[in-house]
Amino acid sequence: MKNELLTALGELLVDGSLTDASLLAQTGQGSGVQILPDANVVKIGGQSMIDRGRQAVFPIIEEIVENLGRHKMIIGTGAGTRARHAYSVGIDLGLPTGVLSVLGTFVSMQNARMLHYLLARHGIPFIEPAQFPQLPLYLAERQAVIFFGMPPYTFWQQNPAAGRIPPHRTDTGAYLVSEVFGTRAMIYVKDEKGLYTADPKKDKHAKFIPRITLAELKELDLQDVVVERAVLELMEHAEHRRSIQFINGLEKGNLTRALNGEAVGTIITAD
Ligand code: ADP
Ligand code: MG
Repeated sequence: MKNELLTALGELLVDGSLTDASLLAQTGQGSGVQILPDANVVKIGGQSMIDRGRQAVFPIIEEIVENLGRHKMIIGTGAGTRARHAYSVGIDLGLPTGVLSVLGTFVSMQNARMLHYLLARHGIPFIEPAQFPQLPLYLAERQAVIFFGMPPYTFWQQNPAAGRIPPHRTDTGAYLVSEVFGTRAMIYVKDEKGLYTADPKKDKHAKFIPRITLAELKELDLQDVVVERAVLELMEHAEHRRSIQFINGLEKGNLTRALNGEAVGTIITAD
């Protein structure tokens, strides 16, 4: 390639080393494009919401439908109890993290299929990773899509620091969609008001935390949190998705409030 066609950075990238830290730092110059700034990623919890059946799922479906004219939604699904069962059998059989990741993917797909059929009469499509190029069209035409929350790494899933459970699961997959498309919001719909100082199901004295930064959260060194820890790690290097919100989906109106930009539930920020 003729060097006069290249930018100064282009010249360095073509000729230089992609393991050179100072060169890599220069590739972060300028502001990145927000591809879908009007869309909201909404993750519906597996164990916390979908596994509860109609009592939890029907009201949240109704609320999604109520918001169709007002907000664009990229709806991801959790996996939940069936995935935990599959993981336990897989672990018993000695299967590796990459294979457990395949199992979890299919469970989150089951959940996505169920929500999809409940929303089918509103024209909302279920999309797999191969159909993400059509996402902008679907959002423009139908305002929402359903996808399965697991990142599609399957066998390429990294091993966790300890044990064998895939560290990047559906909270992470939804988060990464939000980050790459530079969406307006990342809303997690679960079964608690948000983040507490401890799991509120196990500790009655756990205190609610309405807003917290990653640095403060690290300082607290909580034994358990409301989100996959991988999401918090990824947020540190996020270009767009530097805040995430957690709401109680068992309480009608919270999703609408969050979509409207209200600080309902807990907000965790990178800054
Ligand atoms: P999902 O169904 O979206 O996968 P999870 O069940 O994995 O959701 O995570 C939500 C659960 O995390 C809550 O139901 C709550 O019991 C638990 N949890 C653990 N630690 C905390 C904490 N510090 N604050 C709030 N919830 C917590
Ligand atoms: Mg979970």
